[in-house]
Amino acid sequence: MDFSIDEEGRLLQQAVRDFVEESANAVWRDIEETNELPESLVEGAKELGLLSMSIPEQYGGLGFPVTKKALVHEMLGRGPWGLGTFISVHTGIGCVGIVRFGSDAQKDKYLPKMAAGEWIGSFALTEPDAGSDAGALKTTATLKGDQWVLNGTKTFITNAPKAHHFMVFAKTEQGISAFLVDADSPGLRIGQVFKTIGHRGSRPAEVVMEDCLVPKDALIGEEGKGFDYAKRCLAEGRTTLSARCVGTAQKAMELALEYGAERKTFGLPLTEHQALAFRLAQMSARTEAARLCVYRSAWLLDQGQPAIRESSTAKLLAGEGCWQTVDECMQIFGGNGYISGEYMIERLWRDLRVARVYDGSSEVQQIVIAHQLRKGNVQTPW
Ligand SMILES: Cc1cc2nc3c(=O)[nH]c(=O)nc-3n(C[C@H](O)[C@H](O)[C@H](O)COP(=O)(O)OP(=O)(O)OC[C@H]3O[C@@H](n4cnc5c(N)ncnc54)[C@H](O)[C@@H]3O)c2cc1C
Repeated sequence: MDFSIDEEGRLLQQAVRDFVEESANAVWRDIEETNELPESLVEGAKELGLLSMSIPEQYGGLGFPVTKKALVHEMLGRGPWGLGTFISVHTGIGCVGIVRFGSDAQKDKYLPKMAAGEWIGSFALTEPDAGSDAGALKTTATLKGDQWVLNGTKTFITNAPKAHHFMVFAKTEQGISAFLVDADSPGLRIGQVFKTIGHRGSRPAEVVMEDCLVPKDALIGEEGKGFDYAKRCLAEGRTTLSARCVGTAQKAMELALEYGAERKTFGLPLTEHQALAFRLAQMSARTEAARLCVYRSAWLLDQGQPAIRESSTAKLLAGEGCWQTVDECMQIFGGNGYISGEYMIERLWRDLRVARVYDGSSEVQQIVIAHQLRKGNVQTPW
């Protein structure tokens, strides 16, 4: 058993950490106010290769395994989630489907431009009446001649306003199928852009398709296999998202330790009061436990395992545990923590909250884990 991170991994982590701390965290208040990611920040992410992590080297990407992407996402979790989500959807769920299930022609067309950050990717599964129960989606795709005609509305789609294309899931004769739909396809428009309480700058939006026309070869992989593809993309997305939660919890603890060492009550720094010291110890234990589950899920995915139960376990532990940690750190800041724009802890608190909801809520992770248990998948063999 080897828990070490190699030299290359360490340098990568340090480079991303420096970028997040020096470039992204330096402008977090501007992002909150404008609800936009500064172009310089997006350019900085491009220069570091963060938009090409999932794309194989032959298409101009870095071709990182999931374990390496998890290292990056843990560091991204220290910064504004608008940036982390933008990167994560583009190079994660918005890209993995093309890399794993796309045709050679689709890879040739999309991946080099995505690796260069010229084309931004997006993942459109959720609908107004199909979120947790994504299989209940109503969007349809009908083959007419040499074109598919898509009808339906997707909602809460991250990156939608700046996306070049979407991985869209729709019902066809054979079941749920996946399509690559360009944003400028006839009949597609961006609907409402939502104002979120955290994740500022990511601007999730509706994607409305009314007799939207795409070529026959826009189908990804096999017809009727779309839901399996979605699950594979999400298993990876859940793992890297969980890594981001761990990074956020770690950052929150560091901020709370710093604040708690300065702030005195009853003649002692806050961190010297045993009740708070124990609370910090619990936070540390929870964060380490989540971190181990995240890296194991990433490692399993790199071994070609589906890691369905393990990625859901990581997401459940990281989503719930890291939320509890950030909330308890916020408590250590007392009234100061609740003042908007003063201390970064309030932003971490608003940003992290949605991790319990999206990419499969905590309840959905429990549904998935229980389903796996009933199928006899009770313990991963070492
Ligand atoms: C900021 C943001 C970005 C997003 N980005 C994307 C994106 O890029 N692409 C995309 O496709 N989607 C995206 N989503 C959508 C997200 O994945 C959904 O919001 C999520 O799946 C939950 O669906 P819902 O909101 O419809 O909640 P619902 O399905 O209505 O669920 C409401 C609540 O009920 C609980 N619940 C539901 N069923 C059960 C049950 N059987 N047992 C117990 N509890 C249950 C849920 O856990 C949840 O807490 C995003 C959402 C947000 C907020």
